[in-house]
Amino acid sequence: MDLSTSLLAFERETTLETPKLLSIVDNFTETYQYGLTNDHSIMIPSYVSRLPTGKEMGTYFALDLGGTNLRVAAVTLLGDGKTSVEQRIYVIPDHFKMGTAEELFDWIALITQELLESLSSKVINANNDKMFMGVTFSFPIDQTAIDRGKVMHMGKGFKVIGLEGNDPVEFLQQAYNRKGINIHISAIVNDSVGALVANAYKDQNTIISVIQGTGTNAACIVQIGSIKKKKFPPRFPEYMIINTEWSLVGADFLPFTKYDRLLDEQSDTPGFQPFEKMTSGMYLGELVRLVIVDYVENFGLFEGKLPKELGIKYNFKTTHMSDIESDLSKDCTGTLKVLTKNFDFIKNPSIEDAGIIKRIVQRFTRRSCQLQAAAIASLIKLQCPEFPEVEREIRVAIDGSIFHHYFKYSILMSKALKDIQQTKEAKKIKLVGILDGGCIGAAIIAMMYSR
Ligand code: ADP
Repeated sequence: MDLSTSLLAFERETTLETPKLLSIVDNFTETYQYGLTNDHSIMIPSYVSRLPTGKEMGTYFALDLGGTNLRVAAVTLLGDGKTSVEQRIYVIPDHFKMGTAEELFDWIALITQELLESLSSKVINANNDKMFMGVTFSFPIDQTAIDRGKVMHMGKGFKVIGLEGNDPVEFLQQAYNRKGINIHISAIVNDSVGALVANAYKDQNTIISVIQGTGTNAACIVQIGSIKKKKFPPRFPEYMIINTEWSLVGADFLPFTKYDRLLDEQSDTPGFQPFEKMTSGMYLGELVRLVIVDYVENFGLFEGKLPKELGIKYNFKTTHMSDIESDLSKDCTGTLKVLTKNFDFIKNPSIEDAGIIKRIVQRFTRRSCQLQAAAIASLIKLQCPEFPEVEREIRVAIDGSIFHHYFKYSILMSKALKDIQQTKEAKKIKLVGILDGGCIGAAIIAMMYSR
């Protein structure tokens, strides 16, 4: 096979025609239903069963403990769907990632104290001295109540002694008590759940949220009766927000190419998070790199010479893909520039080679948008079985740099959703961007569950 035949075959394999996409929508639906019925690490109940009206007011706190950064924020709800945020962001030092839980949470308490000291007394006293906080915790936890959960495992370079198997809320509350900080932690939530609630504060039609950044996740609202894997007390509210953990799904139905399989095999987590590996910011660039390496080694791309940097895993970045997507020239000069600016070629690539790279990038971008749209369509179906004929307005709130900044990504995702609905209209369903959703949502949830 020569390069152009191979490229055509690759394009055919990664192009998801509507019938194929519709069957993937059905596969997602079956998987979600399975997750709601069986004890499984997807479709996790959040215990959030209330939504804000947008009229709530006051200052509430949020703490976001993610992979890299720690964020402590005071979120003021202004009562008209608007919010303002005062925050402190710090990179989490490695010694806290490896130290004891007490050391980590004492450091967090110190930063919280700094934030409190910087706020005006008006803000602090608005709630009669009682302050409430919601925590977004970006590690899997086995949640048993809105403010209770056990850390299942940490990963992302964290090995905090004493935290796994225990409740991070308790550790944080004790650290605040030790420092005499009068904050009560009233909720612990996943950032996707926070994003849904934050957008619902602005727009009551929000029923789904998506995170599309380094990784991907989504949350949705379901009727309590459909969460068959859990028993809830009588007179429990009618619905609950579910953290889908959708990064984990798809091993048995996603349309993997040999590059997807290779990426998975060479990753630190083979077999884990197949949907994330096909769609999210961490992996898209690496998929492109794997095709480039194959084409250089086997089909003479770049005259058979691979720039040194492209021999190293994860060195083709998802931001390079976005830059290439934004090349609107007919002759691919923009793509050529991205390549020569970022990689040391012995001899500059030809315009034809740049064209090939652009076609590869375009395929992975579009496939990612289509698969994300399919996963969203299935979540809409879960809540509106009449889909694609939805009667109500629906907002899907999306956070993460891929949705916000990747050139044309949001447009292509909306288009893919319309293709699934098989309509040009699709007015009622809108994908909308949200910033800082996890953090704002955690504060709103703290407000709704403050006691
Ligand atoms: P996180 O998910 O880690 O909280 P982000 O939402 O900022 O953080 O997502 C980071 C991911 O988004 C990275 O994979 C990065 O490569 C990608 N990214 C950031 N900016 C852009 C951009 N302009 N175009 C495409 N991808 C981007």
